[in-house]
Amino acid sequence: MRVTLGRATTNNYTTDDPSVSNSHAYIEFDDTHIFIHDTNSANGTFVNNIQIIKKEIDLTNQIKLGNHLVDNKLLNQIIHQQKVALQTDFTKEFQELEPVYNQYIKNLNKIDTSEKNRLILIRLVITAVLMLLVFLVFGKPSYMIFVGLVATMLTNFLIKPSNVREKKEDIQLNLSDDFVCPKCKTSLANKSWKYWKKNGSCPNSKCNATWQ
Ligand SMILES: [Zn+2]
Repeated sequence: MRVTLGRATTNNYTTDDPSVSNSHAYIEFDDTHIFIHDTNSANGTFVNNIQIIKKEIDLTNQIKLGNHLVDNKLLNQIIHQQKVALQTDFTKEFQELEPVYNQYIKNLNKIDTSEKNRLILIRLVITAVLMLLVFLVFGKPSYMIFVGLVATMLTNFLIKPSNVREKKEDIQLNLSDDFVCPKCKTSLANKSWKYWKKNGSCPNSKCNATWQ
């Protein structure tokens, strides 16, 4: 894999520093090693202030193209992007999405459960208060049972779950931001993690990411 550096905008890493040649150097890398090669630049390539033609580097080294000090953070990003672009097996990255997905499902279920409990509590309190009032006014336990039944039916009918949908939509929105193809970031939130696991590849036809 290769990253080119120079003043020409066709390079992967570019700078408009006049001491940098159009095609100044290139970096060759695999998973473990990074080499920098000078490509006959006018003002030379330097690693820790020593001029080099070809040298193994790591991204803690000070790299200079002519007078230009290379932004190692940016260079690292460019290298990483290239690695991702060439990578097709995203099994490890996909596996890492499972806990993320599960947490969202848990949160969705939690909303249902807590809303259900809240409704039960409200209905119980209203029914109990009504029963107590009837007992205090009429003093007849048989009225209480009748009122209790009516109140239960009425509160079931009148008190409905509130803002559950909004809360769920918020969670689903966040899920579609986080549960995405590790390569192209296409959202996978319309189906379950298990579905995509079985499917084994990204739904985006322009993306070649796969996972087992
Ligand atoms: Zn993809």
